[in-house]
Amino acid sequence: MINFELTEEQQQLRETCRRFAENEIAPVAASIDEIPDPREAFPQDLIGKGFELGFHTLLVPEQYGGMGGGLVDFSIMMEELAVADAGVAFSFAATCAISRMVAANATPAQCERWLVPFCEDKTGRYSLGFGATEPSGGTEIFYTGDDPKFGTKTFAKKIDGGYSINGAKQFTTNAGQAALYGCMARTDRNAPNFVSNSIFYFSADTPGFSLGKIEDKMGHRASSNGGLIFDDMEVSDDDLLGEEGKGVEILLQTYHANGVGMGSLALGIARAAYEMALEYAKERQTWGQPIIQYQSIGNKLVDMKMAIETGRLLIQRIAWASDQGRHNDDVNPSMAKVYASEVARKVTVDAMQVLGGYGYMKDYPAEKLVRDAMVTPIYDGANEVLKYFMSLEL
Ligand SMILES: Cc1cc2nc3c(=O)[nH]c(=O)nc-3n(C[C@H](O)[C@H](O)[C@H](O)COP(=O)(O)OP(=O)(O)OC[C@H]3O[C@@H](n4cnc5c(N)ncnc54)[C@H](O)[C@@H]3O)c2cc1C
Repeated sequence: MINFELTEEQQQLRETCRRFAENEIAPVAASIDEIPDPREAFPQDLIGKGFELGFHTLLVPEQYGGMGGGLVDFSIMMEELAVADAGVAFSFAATCAISRMVAANATPAQCERWLVPFCEDKTGRYSLGFGATEPSGGTEIFYTGDDPKFGTKTFAKKIDGGYSINGAKQFTTNAGQAALYGCMARTDRNAPNFVSNSIFYFSADTPGFSLGKIEDKMGHRASSNGGLIFDDMEVSDDDLLGEEGKGVEILLQTYHANGVGMGSLALGIARAAYEMALEYAKERQTWGQPIIQYQSIGNKLVDMKMAIETGRLLIQRIAWASDQGRHNDDVNPSMAKVYASEVARKVTVDAMQVLGGYGYMKDYPAEKLVRDAMVTPIYDGANEVLKYFMSLEL
């Protein structure tokens, strides 16, 4: 039997997120977007308010202090937050997806050490970051061939009781804001990339760790992205997540959450654009009638709505399958992000067209929504690469 009804808890979650988005995020979204220095734009207080509501703990099991939610819950939260601001939603998306990666792969002792203080935080200071992408390319880390010289460059050398890490990451979300970071590093230089990456977690004050450049971005300006630098950074054996050499495998598993989270975030951007364009088209008059009455505009709005509804169905179907433990379902979870990000780009550009000249001016958020949508097919695995992996399953 197919049931598209949200549970009572899920409806409550949607209400809480929607109220937070409308009352807390929306009133400040435009002013944060305009802050010129990216190092000053991160809305710490706002993120803290979300932490007070426990948003960061959504995907952490209850035994460690989390809400114990699933991916359908994640899709609901991400869409609602992103309607108000993609950057704020993005910070939570990264933190939640990383917490899920940790919960799924860490030992009980690591969960106590990492997830319990994380869940207890009510200030927003315990955001999470994960560095995989390197200056040599985000796609490089997924190199599937046999030649050991390609793939991740950051190297974790085995030392007594732990590892010494050297290398650099770039574009990391929550850089400079996270209390705990994860990083992918090769633990064997002579083995192929796919089987020689390992994942380590370390606190932001670990000696040998420093921040690189904080990026100035086109959109998502409320989120922080930057470099992570490792200069003989020592971590202990207990900081290894899962087994040595399984890093790429673990990262690909987290794409169940990432696809759902980032896809819903993209859908939230699209929904904001559609709702704005619909309202405008009903009010704006030319030749004595509202522009929605012209077929070219009315049809565009219908196409926008259909694309959003289709995207939500696909995402929630993938999320539901994952929540049921059906990880080998025949729909690749990355489809959620790939499809919804393409919807977000198209819908935001169409919304701008509906607003005519005003769509291009800063009077309306249309141009911000286009800027926010543009990155969605790029981050968290470029769509081209995700499609490549999908094509291998056909
Ligand atoms: C806002 C933002 C936030 C981000 N957050 C994080 C984060 O938190 N952690 C993190 O690790 N990374 C993060 N990234 C990095 C992001 O995941 C990468 O930008 C993305 O994976 C692409 O890597 P790249 O930019 O190095 O492009 P490249 O890998 O250089 O690719 C360039 C182009 O070539 C295409 N291409 C390359 N190789 C192939 C191939 N084999 N098959 C088909 N097409 C190919 C790509 O699709 C892309 O279009 C973030 C990026 C952005 C913009």
